[in-house]
Amino acid sequence: MERSFSIPISRRDLFKLAGVTAVGIALSGNNPVEAAEKTGEFIKYADKKIPILCNVDVCICGGGPSGTAAAVNAAKNGAKTLLIERGIALGGLGVLGCVYPFMDTHAPDSDTPYLVELKNRLRAKGIEPFDGVTQQTWHNPEILAEILDEMCEEAGVNILYQTVLVDSLTSGGKISTAIVQTIAGLAAVKAKIFIDATGDAYLSRVSGVDYERGYEKTGNNQPLSFRFEMGGIDTQKLYNYVAIELQEDWCKSKLPYFEIAEAMHRKQRYKLEAFMARGVETGEITQDEAEYMQAYTIIGKNGVMSMNCPEIPVKFSATDPVSYSKAVSFGRKMMRNIARYLINHLPGFENAFISREAVMLGARESWRIKGKYYLVEDDYHNQSKFPDAVCRTAWFIDAHGEKVSEKLPAGCFYEIPYRSLITDKISNLIVVGRCISASFILQASMRIQPTCYSIGEAAGIAAAYALQNKIDANKLDWTLIPAYKRSYVSQG
Ligand SMILES: Cc1cc2nc3c(=O)[nH]c(=O)nc-3n(C[C@H](O)[C@H](O)[C@H](O)COP(=O)(O)OP(=O)(O)OC[C@H]3O[C@@H](n4cnc5c(N)ncnc54)[C@H](O)[C@@H]3O)c2cc1C
Repeated sequence: MERSFSIPISRRDLFKLAGVTAVGIALSGNNPVEAAEKTGEFIKYADKKIPILCNVDVCICGGGPSGTAAAVNAAKNGAKTLLIERGIALGGLGVLGCVYPFMDTHAPDSDTPYLVELKNRLRAKGIEPFDGVTQQTWHNPEILAEILDEMCEEAGVNILYQTVLVDSLTSGGKISTAIVQTIAGLAAVKAKIFIDATGDAYLSRVSGVDYERGYEKTGNNQPLSFRFEMGGIDTQKLYNYVAIELQEDWCKSKLPYFEIAEAMHRKQRYKLEAFMARGVETGEITQDEAEYMQAYTIIGKNGVMSMNCPEIPVKFSATDPVSYSKAVSFGRKMMRNIARYLINHLPGFENAFISREAVMLGARESWRIKGKYYLVEDDYHNQSKFPDAVCRTAWFIDAHGEKVSEKLPAGCFYEIPYRSLITDKISNLIVVGRCISASFILQASMRIQPTCYSIGEAAGIAAAYALQNKIDANKLDWTLIPAYKRSYVSQG
């Protein structure tokens, strides 16, 4: 805590912070409200006096792929930056949600500088992210979290962990304050620009921005998944069985980069489909449990695989708190059943066990903002290009249970405009990651981690530039930022 606040936050802010931390209370003898009252720096919120924790240039809410990239790039470009994260690790779904690996955008030269640096840092720590065949980024969640911490520290980002954004105060079409719940209680954070990286458009929704959720045709969100890791796997035995005995050639890379998959509801047929179907016949697993199973080796964690399952039935909602909570218990049961079935029957899994459960349920899609530009399915098929593009992708439309599109022809891609990150409603808000302004179907293509990192990177650069040039974030023209400062320049 001390370290993370040491660089850009003033002694006065530190003193205020001391009022709301256990250490601070011991040092000052003050409770948070008294400390705030002494300096006159408190606000009234819900009939309570709450301390103003700090006053920064840019406050980023959510420390996932998009939020960490935004924070590092805002700070590197000179902004006093605060990153708020409700967990105790950065990386979002990629770390807390056990989502692994980064999928490939399928677009040529799509890696923006931040992604290039991330991959180089993985290599420097002994994790080679390239398997020599596919373009997906194999990493290691714990090392990724460490790297993200390091990048924030080096850039001078202040992180507030275990801190939940609960509300915002707005006036005149601007967010003035974020209300957060810290380990010590409620507090206020003031900033000139706010970046919503919650994945759920939470900051946008509490600030009055228009939003959508789910598929307009069914009202359903994409299905939730409760991902986990299994250890104790004999991956060589598994490889011999799947790749050599069953002659499954779907995964072309070799150990230590290996994945297995079975997805009964997809057009593509996998050799393990019959294996899972047998479990349904014997009653050991349900049809829902059998329908989606995928597992990837994790680099640097020998004998451990990241399980992309269970996929929880779509009747459980990513946007209804009661249904979401039921999905957790239901998903955990599914997880146990799948694990037991693999242990009992899949060669290589004889001594396996569940070694890690996600601490964040996997929401592929929840709420999405309605911004200045609304990306739609046609933008994918038409390979739309925009002068104010912040990145490119060609990852296919992967709306589980609704639509799985054909891939774009090799070398083709579409771009994501800065205008999909901003709204007419709030002038000092930039929205990043999987909740930008996009239709349900298009979001199913733009949501993968590399794209979210690149979107966040651009938002950080844009926020710092807007502040330096006294431009509202939602009036900023990305093309006016000198090209050498931009993370991406449109090829359109
Ligand atoms: C099951 C599943 C499988 C997937 N498979 C892949 C894959 O194989 N490869 C791939 O590249 N992508 C995959 N994805 C997509 C990808 O993981 C996400 O779309 C991506 O992580 C979104 O990044 P983000 O920054 O928008 O948000 P998130 O990763 O959701 O991060 C949001 C962060 O904000 C924090 N937060 C949220 N609300 C608050 C709050 N109120 N206060 C404070 N903090 C808050 C969260 O704790 C989290 O750290 C998958 C997703 C799912 C769910």
